[in-house]
Amino acid sequence: LKAQGLLEKIEDYEVVLGKCYRCGDVVEPLLSKQWFVKMKPLATPAIAAVERGFTRLVPENWKNLYFDWMRNIRDWCISRQIWWGHRLPAWTCKDCGEITVSREDPEACAHCGSENIVQEEDVLDTWFSSALWPFSTLGWPEDTPELRLYYPTSLLVTSFDILFFWVARMLMMGLHFMGAVPFRDVYIHALVRDEKGQKMSKSRGNVIDPLVMIEKYGTDAFRFTLAALAAQGRDIKLAESRIEGYRHFVNKIWNAARFVLLNLDGYEKVDLSQATLPKESRWILSRLQKTIERVRRSLDEYEFDQAALGIYHFFWHEFCDWYVEMSKRFLAQGGEAKRLAQNVLVEVLEKSLRLLHPFMPFVTEEIWQAIPHEGEALIVAPYPRPQRAFIDEGVEAELNKVKELIVAIRAIRADYNLHPTQEIKAIVRAEREEKLTLFQEFSPVIKQLARLKTLEFQLGGLRPKGAASVVLADAEVFVPLEGLVDVASELKKLKKDEEKTLKELSRVKGRLEN
Ligand SMILES: [Zn+2]
Ligand SMILES: [Zn+2]
Repeated sequence: LKAQGLLEKIEDYEVVLGKCYRCGDVVEPLLSKQWFVKMKPLATPAIAAVERGFTRLVPENWKNLYFDWMRNIRDWCISRQIWWGHRLPAWTCKDCGEITVSREDPEACAHCGSENIVQEEDVLDTWFSSALWPFSTLGWPEDTPELRLYYPTSLLVTSFDILFFWVARMLMMGLHFMGAVPFRDVYIHALVRDEKGQKMSKSRGNVIDPLVMIEKYGTDAFRFTLAALAAQGRDIKLAESRIEGYRHFVNKIWNAARFVLLNLDGYEKVDLSQATLPKESRWILSRLQKTIERVRRSLDEYEFDQAALGIYHFFWHEFCDWYVEMSKRFLAQGGEAKRLAQNVLVEVLEKSLRLLHPFMPFVTEEIWQAIPHEGEALIVAPYPRPQRAFIDEGVEAELNKVKELIVAIRAIRADYNLHPTQEIKAIVRAEREEKLTLFQEFSPVIKQLARLKTLEFQLGGLRPKGAASVVLADAEVFVPLEGLVDVASELKKLKKDEEKTLKELSRVKGRLEN
């Protein structure tokens, strides 16, 4: 062009240069012959299977991505020029050039009968072989007992990044070769990220090494933490402090078990369904059944965080915080009261350990072996089922009111810095007699847990003077402060607070007017 004077101009320009992903050398694209699978006919039934719910994706929002892929599917290049893999079952005839595809190795060309044939050297894409996995592992194409028993499977647990590569292809192949979906449910699990939600990587230095955590806090605490943080559809933001927090829970379980074991002298098993139990015991047994229901329901729905938090809340904040304390009174009474309390403690602890076992396999098995139990090992013990006969809404409502009163008295103690050993008096006042009856009935447990010297009841009338008070749903509670609090210094403190608040108020007012 230059010699003939036809050159307009010379200009540099940038191109996107392909590079080898292994060695980084520049690669030159070449056209080549490859094997493809026509995907539309395979995708159509796989779309319908998910639409109709034969296979369920959990969390459900992954369905949109799945449908998007499948409805815009392109033909799949399945041939690879590598050594490892299933060799394509295709033979080329050296004489007529035609291709013979066959399940069995052919002896001759299907077109001209020539024996001068060679098998394709390309192997299948690894995802092609993986797509056959749900049935090829069970003896397919033979009709084996395993295939009949285990296909379709119930659940596939996997990561979102292979939803298309693997899950969608297993669905298509399963429907094509077996005429049925390969699994009922697909649970897409979360990614574990750091506490700020960033992906963990060595270069960022934010990697939390599971083995280090297990060494430091124990396998049970680590495993429970992951379950408790596994909210559906969200990534796990893992912080070491969370693992440390759940180690406290492991200790709590251990200490509760120790308390029960130390109080089992003379233990005899009683049929609790036939026993006349105090309301405190009926309450914890009712709460236990509801916890079992909640945990089972959450596990059925793959809501692992809800299952973990359900048993956590029950065991710590209902069993340990309340029932273990309440049981001390019954244990001290001896006789039948003690025997029943021992049985309720064992029942609640034993069922809780079963509920906890999948989350904390080691500590639960260790404790279970030490307490009264039936069966060989917790790992093979049945998961608990709720016993509806123990559910008692009336008793739960009553205990909620009693707990509310105790919490209110404790709050007054905290507000006025009254030492836990300081014995105080409380007055419950209500406008109607029947509102007081409940608290009168539970007077012993209220006195015990609120550490009261005396508990009095007042029907209507004037509110007690010089007392701290809290308004409850059905009543009011008063704690007379005379003799407990230095009224003069308390007044001085309040006066100071008032002055400070007034100063702040005038400052804010000044700024607003400015
Ligand atoms: Zn290379
Ligand atoms: Zn031929």
